Amino acid sequence: MRVIWVHGPDQSHYFCVSQITNVFRAVDGGEGVSQFLLMGHRRLRLTGVVEDDPLSVTVEHVKDKPYDGSQDVIKATVMEVVTTMKDLIRLNPLYKEHIQLFIQHMGEFNASKLADFGAALTTADEPSLQEVLEELDVTKRLYMTLTLLKKELELSKLQASIARGVEEKISGEQRRFFLMEQLKAIKKELGLETDDKTALTVKFRERLESRRQGCPAHVLQVIDDELNKLQGLESSSSEFNVTRNYLDWLTSLPWGQYSEENFDVGRAQEILDAEHYGLADVKERILEFIAVGKLRGSAQGKIICLAGPPGVGKTSIGRSIAHALNRQFYRFSVGGLGDVAEIKGHRRTYVGAMPGKMVQCLKATGTANPLVLIDEIDKLGRGHTGDPASALLELLDPEQNANFLDHYLDVPIDLSKVLFVCTANVVESIPGPLLDRMEVIRLVGYITDEKMHIARDYLERAAREGSGVKPEQVEVTDGALHTLIETYCREAGVRNLQKHIEKIYRKIALKLVRSDLLKNGKINNSNVLAESASGTESNGERIIEELLDSGEVATLKSTDSATTLSEDGESETSKVTKKNEESTPIEALYVDDSNLADYVGNPVFQSDRLYDQTPLGVVMGLAWTAMGGSTLYVETRVIEQNAGKGSLQMTGQLGDVMKESATIAHTVARAILREKQPDNSFFSDSRLHLHVPAGATPKDGPSAGCTMITSMLSLAIDKPVRRDVAMTGEVTLTGRVLPIGGVKEKTVAARRSGVKVVIFPSANQRDFDELPAHVKEGIEVHFVDNYSEIFDIAFCERQSQAGDNSPQAAEVVQSVDVSPMSVKHFYSF
Ligand code: ADP
Repeated sequence: MRVIWVHGPDQSHYFCVSQITNVFRAVDGGEGVSQFLLMGHRRLRLTGVVEDDPLSVTVEHVKDKPYDGSQDVIKATVMEVVTTMKDLIRLNPLYKEHIQLFIQHMGEFNASKLADFGAALTTADEPSLQEVLEELDVTKRLYMTLTLLKKELELSKLQASIARGVEEKISGEQRRFFLMEQLKAIKKELGLETDDKTALTVKFRERLESRRQGCPAHVLQVIDDELNKLQGLESSSSEFNVTRNYLDWLTSLPWGQYSEENFDVGRAQEILDAEHYGLADVKERILEFIAVGKLRGSAQGKIICLAGPPGVGKTSIGRSIAHALNRQFYRFSVGGLGDVAEIKGHRRTYVGAMPGKMVQCLKATGTANPLVLIDEIDKLGRGHTGDPASALLELLDPEQNANFLDHYLDVPIDLSKVLFVCTANVVESIPGPLLDRMEVIRLVGYITDEKMHIARDYLERAAREGSGVKPEQVEVTDGALHTLIETYCREAGVRNLQKHIEKIYRKIALKLVRSDLLKNGKINNSNVLAESASGTESNGERIIEELLDSGEVATLKSTDSATTLSEDGESETSKVTKKNEESTPIEALYVDDSNLADYVGNPVFQSDRLYDQTPLGVVMGLAWTAMGGSTLYVETRVIEQNAGKGSLQMTGQLGDVMKESATIAHTVARAILREKQPDNSFFSDSRLHLHVPAGATPKDGPSAGCTMITSMLSLAIDKPVRRDVAMTGEVTLTGRVLPIGGVKEKTVAARRSGVKVVIFPSANQRDFDELPAHVKEGIEVHFVDNYSEIFDIAFCERQSQAGDNSPQAAEVVQSVDVSPMSVKHFYSF
């Protein structure tokens, strides 16, 4: 027998007694505790305790108050209790088991037992249940039980709705989870798994791992934050893409990765010599720079600016410096650049935002100390949103670039180890603050001799290798090269020469392949001949060109193959015909003076000289353009003579300075004439016309002053100037000669035009003395302080002129001296 004590609120004790047979279930609760499910039979009230151990008590039996079960109220309440219990079962199947047990063991059914059972079924609190237990009026007890059951029903309903909500949520998430898993599997199957968030994170972390050491703490922090952010973003959202791209850039920069610098001056010298001919002074400056780098331990600080006309090797020297120093090379041009974002990057929020050129450079080179060549710094544009020059300044200035802030990257990067080299055509156009921080190295251009060497030793070899022609298959004579330089490629640089040499080698390749094809009978000879004779492009030619393009040349050409010889510049047709007739196997192709035009077309230049002997009133001056130096004539003629009607008009696209200069020249010429020939009234009686040919090209500058005076005086004293003389110099009203710019360019130009005597202002003597000996070779130079000295040199005893004073008799060698380059460029005097 077991006793369960139930304490009432007034400390009275009730207990239920159960016979042992009524223990429904014994459950082992673990840890020595057992649970029993009991069925109460009747109510007892404790009246006293007889003994504590073992417990012995006295009780009194308590009975329900008598009631009539057939009463409508009881019946109705019973029915309602049963209905509520049914509802409960429907909501919570747990109750079903209890009810089945109750039905099996309750014996005869009555309202009292139903009330007790109904209350026991609920999860009501102890006091409520105690109330039911103590209630002896069955109708009331039933009512109390019904209330508890209704509450229980509501609770169950709530529980059900909570369960439903939770279930829905869970199943929604589960559905999503399953779908995602499926998607992953599909992507994996299709090889599209790359964008997966975790894969991305792993990728970025792995990439960063090798650079973590050199990565500044604040950058690591940003990367970590961004990686965390990425995890929380929807992979289809635009923000996800922005973050991913950002992380991609951040993790692919070479944080703390440097290429080991080589300061070996001997090796650098070898590399510079192997890649460039001449340029001794430029190479020397570069070696000095490397030597300083060796002593200091790093080659940064100064920014080198290579200035000179196009094609003189500025870019390739830059590449050689990188090679010599063992740095990675990166080049970008800022010509016409107006958008600051090109340098500083766009803000990340913009669609398609990109970092600036420097960040791109670091990513591309993979080292934090590359050599960066900034091309065309003199042609920097002007932006409407910020000034690119100041952005460049921030980039180049060693004081600022250790913490360069790119708008896209948004974390400072250290560019102090980057070596900057700039190139420019005209130093004067470089913005002042930028120029201040640069060390300018001038490359002025090459004279014919230098070009010959460059062509022979560098350009020809490269062109031959590029076209696949073997050295034994071709010979380009010195004469042909000389003509090429003198009459096709006269500009300061060698890029045009390089193009022409490449053109020659392409044509040679075509000839070699054609001769092979013809020999092997792959092309119908008669067809080729007929069509090429009619001047149209032949099928054969087209086929050969296609073959050349498709690389079949290599298979068609063999070292021992016979080739055609074209010694005499005959037309294609006649050469091929001759070969067919004679079928002579020929070893090599010769390109010489006579057949050069077959390869490169007709010459562009005839002569730099307009006049073989300058007529009266014509004097050669020296100018310079962004393309290098140039010789230009100043011409003066008399329009009409009228006593006291002396005047001057000028043409030739002259700028304001040059017009003023002409007026000054007119005045000075008058003064000189008055001094030399006091009786000569030429200037007061003559209407003069001064012209500077190449009328399409704008010209300006003061340094044609002395040339203009000489030209006017030549007319006044009726005497042509000395043969082969050229001059330059600004003249003041009193006749003093002031210094000019571009001495080397002008000297090179004078030599190219076959000038023997050059007149420079005295103040320029130092510039001239600094020129390499081979540039000065063969030139008679006069340095003057005053115009009267020029007068003496220019009008001294004429050489080899058989009294031929008349301007009409002077031979005009070429109608106009217009080089294809010079017309596009501004002449500075
Ligand atoms: P720039 O940058 O001054 O316009 P580049 O550097 O592009 O000229 O030079 C044009 C071409 O001429 C390059 O192929 C370069 O190798 C060649 N070149 C220029 N100067 C020399 C030189 N002194 N020796 C050998 N090749 C040269």
